[in-house]
Amino acid sequence: DDESGGGEEYLFKIVIIGDSAVGKSNLLSRYARNEFNMHSKATIGVEFQTQVLEIDGKEVKAQIWDTAGQERFRAVTSAYYRGAVGALVVYDISRRSTFDSITRWLEELNTHSDTTVARMLVGNKCDLDNIRAVSIEEGTTLAEAEGLFFMETSALDSTNVKKAFEIVIREIYSNVS
Ligand code: GDP
Ligand code: MG
Repeated sequence: DDESGGGEEYLFKIVIIGDSAVGKSNLLSRYARNEFNMHSKATIGVEFQTQVLEIDGKEVKAQIWDTAGQERFRAVTSAYYRGAVGALVVYDISRRSTFDSITRWLEELNTHSDTTVARMLVGNKCDLDNIRAVSIEEGTTLAEAEGLFFMETSALDSTNVKKAFEIVIREIYSNVS
């Protein structure tokens, strides 16, 4: 329904999860500010960043949350997940252990949110193809088995970063509109 003058507004909370140092904070800073930090430390003070998109003439605000390094302690608080309607579950294609952790992150996500959450499996650091430890096929297979979208990204050279976030945002939008 349309209100005269303004139109509808949407606010979607999206969380980024995955092991320490897979590039979660840099994916967010690349998407929201087009910035990359080679020496980023685990803790970056920002809780979330908001991106505004227009979809079907509607204003859509994506409020994207970054862990403040809590994942080092193997669990993120339930407050982090509360109200989330989308999630990027990230591993590092050059570190096998981060891919092996994905199942556990998906379990945690499922515990704290309902199944309608739009979920994307993200294999980050695809610029490190020369030291790849997880094949594209393994990523694809896991994503298919778990019913997730899948994309390899690089926060370093920007490959697919915008695409990954926007596929999730558009999926959420199509679920609610
Ligand atoms: P987080 O702990 O998951 O938030 O990971 P960070 O965003 O802090 O990144 C951890 C390290 O990986 C930093 O040294 C980043 O510069 C580096 N990094 C992040 N994304 C990429 C990427 O796409 N490619 C490469 N080569 N390095 C990355
Ligand atoms: Mg971080």
